[in-house]
Amino acid sequence: MVRVPKVCVGCGKEGTVKEIIYELPAEDYDRDRYLIGGCIPEDVVAECTHCGWQKIKKKKVFEGGVGVNRPLKSAPIRARG
Ligand SMILES: [Zn+2]
Repeated sequence: MVRVPKVCVGCGKEGTVKEIIYELPAEDYDRDRYLIGGCIPEDVVAECTHCGWQKIKKKKVFEGGVGVNRPLKSAPIRARG
C-alpha cells in the first residue's frame, strides 16, 4: 500500500495525486484514485494529474555500494625493495 499525499508536493493542489498501479488493473478499478502505469513496474508509485509531480519509491541505498558494512580484506602492504 502506497501512501499518497492528499496535497500535491509539486503544485499544492488537493486530491490530484493518484496512486499508480502496474500490471493489469481490475475492470472496475477506482479511476479517481489510481492511474495505470503499464505492465512494467517502475519506481514511480504516485503521480499528480495536475502538474506531473511524481512520488518515487525509496530504495535502500547503502553508501559506497553493496557490502560496505563488511570489513574489506585489505591486501598486506609489502615494503618495496
Ligand atoms: Zn501537482
